[in-house]
Amino acid sequence: MQKLKNYINGQLAEPIAKSYIDNYSPANGKVYSLIPDSDEKDVELAYAAAAAAFKSWSVTPKETRSYYLLKIADLIEQKLDVLAAAESKDNGKPFKLAKRVDIPRAAANFRFYGTGILHFSAQSHAMENSAINYTLKQPVGVAACISPWNLPLYLFSWKIAPALAAGCTVVAKPSEVTPMTAFLLSEICIEAGLPPGVLNIVHGLGPKVGNAMVSHPNIPLISFTGGTATGKHIASIAAPMFKKLSLELGGKNPNIIFADCNYEDMLSTTLNSSFSNQGQICLCGSRIFVERPLYERFRNDFVAQTKRMKVGDPSKEDTRIGAIVSKGHFDKILSYIDLAKQEGGNVLCGGKSFNPGGELSEGYYIEPTIIEGLDFKCRTNQEEIFGPVVTITPFDTEEEALMMANSTTYGLASMVWTENLTRAHRMANAIHAGIVWINCWLLRDLRTPFGGVKASGVGREGGFEALDFFTEPKNVCVKLN
Ligand code: NDP
Repeated sequence: MQKLKNYINGQLAEPIAKSYIDNYSPANGKVYSLIPDSDEKDVELAYAAAAAAFKSWSVTPKETRSYYLLKIADLIEQKLDVLAAAESKDNGKPFKLAKRVDIPRAAANFRFYGTGILHFSAQSHAMENSAINYTLKQPVGVAACISPWNLPLYLFSWKIAPALAAGCTVVAKPSEVTPMTAFLLSEICIEAGLPPGVLNIVHGLGPKVGNAMVSHPNIPLISFTGGTATGKHIASIAAPMFKKLSLELGGKNPNIIFADCNYEDMLSTTLNSSFSNQGQICLCGSRIFVERPLYERFRNDFVAQTKRMKVGDPSKEDTRIGAIVSKGHFDKILSYIDLAKQEGGNVLCGGKSFNPGGELSEGYYIEPTIIEGLDFKCRTNQEEIFGPVVTITPFDTEEEALMMANSTTYGLASMVWTENLTRAHRMANAIHAGIVWINCWLLRDLRTPFGGVKASGVGREGGFEALDFFTEPKNVCVKLN
């Protein structure tokens, strides 16, 4: 059975303790590879390599850093099929989705920051005839990058690329649930000739490896994407150590549909924003609010089209809904469906697991599920489920829709469907969220600020915001006379 390795100081390395964790394929519930069960000793080795490499990488010309990032982007693109198949097998997502979105986007992240760094600049502030200030933006140091399992290489690279571009060196940990493409990335970095120690990837469990990274006294910044509870824990460790923190956390995103929307466009996009990646995208719209005159038509069409979505083998071309990422998460989603029923919800479709049979009969599949009749304040409508489960709720006025949309502790993304221009802007202005999509979903320009408010996170990724995060501004004031 394949044993993955850590990537430390430019080499593939076994964990010091020689201990491994089983890696499951969610499509069939079987162990198919082994992941290093690393600990703080491996993190220390990775840190030492990153700290040594920082001395030269932080002063390496940006053109050279750019060269390596672009080379990595090229290699990811060349290996598109291999990486997409690996992502699909590790995560359960349809191969087609990994090939169309996850892997191209990982390459785009490297390319974006490989070129972005060439345009990154700082300001100067002249004080008439007395002095001139200029700002240096210096790489902070060794960065800890920790990412989740839902978009494995895509989110891993979203952190690593700006960190490396800015001149930081990195100790990174992918989710232990989906380590495979991070391992393949280490092979790509070796092939690209990335200098040793610039990027180090340590595999293992969050409470062991992640915790050792976060609490390391000499790692001054942490870029984390994951659940809100983990983010809270990380903040409690990092804050007293005065570390720089970027936290991209959970969501419970509203999808607000007005009766005057472009109906066909809204319906097809809402199918995607509800169930893409089995609903396991932090940006999915899990609470759908529909203006009452449209409610019945929408419910009937949405349920009918959802029932037609093919659930099953992630490797098949026509599969829309693949496997849930892990048995633990599968159980959690089903428990939320039970909760929704206890709270008085009416399951309009789905609501149960699905068995594709044959070799996949031990896999973790859940039918796309639509629930109506729930109070907007109930737990099903307030807590993040992160699966193929949405609720639908009618509303009568714009104020009511807004009040329900803003009622959760989260504030990541939101969607508004209307052809009324002023209403669209009014809603965008009033929604508590870091991202508002009007008449669309998941249209992403990598230059835009990405992140959430309230319990959805602190800080922004994307564009120059990420390069700002990985650099420290230093003002230099020069007296002129
Ligand atoms: P987790 O918070 O469980 O894990 C995220 C990462 O943190 C994993 O690598 C995990 O390792 C690691 N980790 C766990 N415990 C610790 C710890 N004590 N110290 C340091 N690191 C730790 O999230 P999930 O992987 O379950 O991902 C799903 C969540 O991510 C959802 O809430 C989703 O909304 C959110 N998310 C947010 C996004 C955003 O941009 N705002 C984007 C995508 C997802 P391990 O897996 O080994 O436990």
